[in-house]
Amino acid sequence: MFVWLINFPHFLEILYHLFEVSLSPLKKWFKPGSRIEPVAIFLERIGKGAVFNCKMCGQCILHSTGMTCPMNCPKYLRNGPCGGVRLNGNCEVNLEEPCVWVEAYERSLRMPTYGHQFAALQPPMNNQLQGSSSWINMFYRIDVDLPSGWTSTRDIPVIWDQEDDHAV
Ligand code: SF4
Repeated sequence: MFVWLINFPHFLEILYHLFEVSLSPLKKWFKPGSRIEPVAIFLERIGKGAVFNCKMCGQCILHSTGMTCPMNCPKYLRNGPCGGVRLNGNCEVNLEEPCVWVEAYERSLRMPTYGHQFAALQPPMNNQLQGSSSWINMFYRIDVDLPSGWTSTRDIPVIWDQEDDHAV
């Protein structure tokens, strides 16, 4: 219903920032397993579903992907496109649809605050978080604390060439 908002990534990144700052003081109520958790999941499913077609992966990286949900990629890729993007920028699976990652890249260029994070390397999906609240997971760093034995990608430096607007 509100999918048109996705084409205003700068507005959305401002909203994201305000949302994160204003909810942080409420962190103590947003606990995993708390009675507020189902409410958070409901609000997230409805709100982010309407704007981003959110798939409730539980580890949101919207601000690193041009406010474009990577879980709408038919291959669930979270680190850029596959090699099958058509010459017109469309998806090789859904030929009539634009590649999620082409849109993500173009939108990230219109995000002065978080756009550079497009170049960040994302860790593998933790499917155990599917269906949980990414807000709560973010507050308690559940989304970045990987299962034992996994290697974090967070410490890998990102070099972003702002003049050419691409990672080097
Ligand atoms: S990245 Fe995950 S939590 Fe964020 S909008 Fe997409 S499916 Fe939802």
